[in-house]
Amino acid sequence: MYLSAANHRIPLSDGNSIPIIGLGTFSEPALTKKGDCAASVKIAIDIGYRHFDGAHLYQNENEVGDAISEKIAEGKVKREDIFYCGKLWATNHVPEMVRPALERTLKSLKLDYVDLYIIEVPMAFKPGNEVYPKDENGKWLYHKSDLCATWEVECHPYFTQPKLLKFCRQHDIVVVAYSPLGTSRNPLWVNISSPPLLNDALLNSLGKKYRKTAAQVALRFNIQRGVVVIPKSFKPERITENFQIFDFSLTEEEMKSIEALNTNIRFVEMLMWCDHPEYPFHDEY
Ligand code: NDP
Repeated sequence: MYLSAANHRIPLSDGNSIPIIGLGTFSEPALTKKGDCAASVKIAIDIGYRHFDGAHLYQNENEVGDAISEKIAEGKVKREDIFYCGKLWATNHVPEMVRPALERTLKSLKLDYVDLYIIEVPMAFKPGNEVYPKDENGKWLYHKSDLCATWEVECHPYFTQPKLLKFCRQHDIVVVAYSPLGTSRNPLWVNISSPPLLNDALLNSLGKKYRKTAAQVALRFNIQRGVVVIPKSFKPERITENFQIFDFSLTEEEMKSIEALNTNIRFVEMLMWCDHPEYPFHDEY
């Protein structure tokens, strides 16, 4: 399928479509200046991004919504041009809590629908207003839930997910790769003993060949095999850089050599919840 900056939606089996690159919007709230997220979303829309990946948990959905509304008011885009993915947090898995949680998201966004609403982690925590509930001894308060295995997939050259991708292709399922650049390496979430993806020698040497960066090669690798990417940056030059992936392509041999980088390194292991009965990563995907 020919993908370009102006036209990079790929079809979904239900007749809808999804832009193959989106802007990730998670940024550690305590370390992020108010307004950075809104400014980044506006820049991204001007550059040509039409897909935004957000969540109530990220504490900036209002900024994403303000930026989208502003660009709609300016006449730059229409609501239907934008694809927004929101997420249900783990303390709201009880069925009666799902709708109010989604309505909260819509209110923050000031939109009347989202394009996709996913379960953020497939492990339920004690329902309530506490986002990360713990008891008086600091022990996580889990909750039993009846979740079917709904899960989105970390995916990048060190974690290429061949088995899962094969299954999804056979069943006409589009995969969205979070952390496609190897994450922000925040030690709260990330296994930082793993090697930084963007220092990889092959990604950098291919970048040199195409006058691209390792980040652009990593993103191109995924979109060229039909995997949607949602790289996060709040830096205008990187938001631009990450979108400039439609003007080159990797050869079949180069695609194979990037696939061979796979070492099953999962950056987002969430080991602090590994004793949760529904912890998803004990199983092979
Ligand atoms: P990414 O792989 O997108 O990496 C983001 C990091 O890379 C940031 O530190 C960013 O810094 C830096 N960066 C961005 N562009 C470049 C570039 N061109 N060159 C060098 N460095 C770059 O990690 P994320 O974990 O943030 O994943 C992306 C998005 O996926 C999230 O923001 C979120 O929306 C979603 N996500 C969802 C999860 C879930 O629901 N379970 C889990 C994890 C992610 P800077 O901003 O300073 O440019």
